Amino acid sequence: MIGANRTGDQLELVLLSHLHVDHVGDIDPIVKALFFHNRLAGFPRDPSQVLQFFGPNKAPANAPPPALRFPTTSRFIDAHFDAGTGIEAYLNDFARVIGHIPFNYAVQSIEHDNTLGVRTIYDQDGVVIKAVGVPHGPAPSLAFRVEYDGKSVVYSGDTTSLSANSNMIEIARDADLLIYDTAILDSTGLPFSQLHTTPTRIGEVARDAGVKHLVLSHITAITERTLDEVKRSIRQAGYRGRISVAKDLRVYNLDRKGRRRHHDDDD
Ligand SMILES: [Zn+2]
Repeated sequence: MIGANRTGDQLELVLLSHLHVDHVGDIDPIVKALFFHNRLAGFPRDPSQVLQFFGPNKAPANAPPPALRFPTTSRFIDAHFDAGTGIEAYLNDFARVIGHIPFNYAVQSIEHDNTLGVRTIYDQDGVVIKAVGVPHGPAPSLAFRVEYDGKSVVYSGDTTSLSANSNMIEIARDADLLIYDTAILDSTGLPFSQLHTTPTRIGEVARDAGVKHLVLSHITAITERTLDEVKRSIRQAGYRGRISVAKDLRVYNLDRKGRRRHHDDDD
């Protein structure tokens, strides 16, 4: 999420890697907070701002049936927030009556074909956002890269990272921070290995891309109790950069060279 300050009231951009519920479940409460709670707390939203969502387009018509269960991101967002038909249409009333501003949002459904390579999907006010399709079972999925002021943050979303065209390596090239799907072990096997990246593959991608700082995210019941093994596999794959384990509300300051908070460096 981009454009957010400490309270998030000026949030402008929301990047959705894919539409699995554990990756989109927070949208509704965040939107409600933007247009309601933040105003009550003295942080009114700029009425000219449009909340922009980016996420994957629908799979092509000839894709396997499980892939066709996922709508376009446009349909997904409209199904929630459209003022006439959305299941949370009342949020438009909240914005207008309580926030005294319109609930303006826009959606872009991004093509996610793995062969399309890394593309720029947003370039404004010094913020450049790039996306690439990544394999994640049947779910249309994207990885994102955000660049600003010479720094870069890459988010894998969920992916096996097993792509003949090495999309994760390309989008993570020389990244300052790579946030990676760390849901399984090398030994976990099917069907999860068709959805998520093994620690060894995480290490290979981070190594080949020359990533400076790797943040292990999407920690599951499998990896939470085996983090030492996960890190060992990543190191054995040849990655020599910094490794951290994500935690809710943890902040990484990329512009403070040499100044690390003790709690965000747990390699
Ligand atoms: Zn997923």
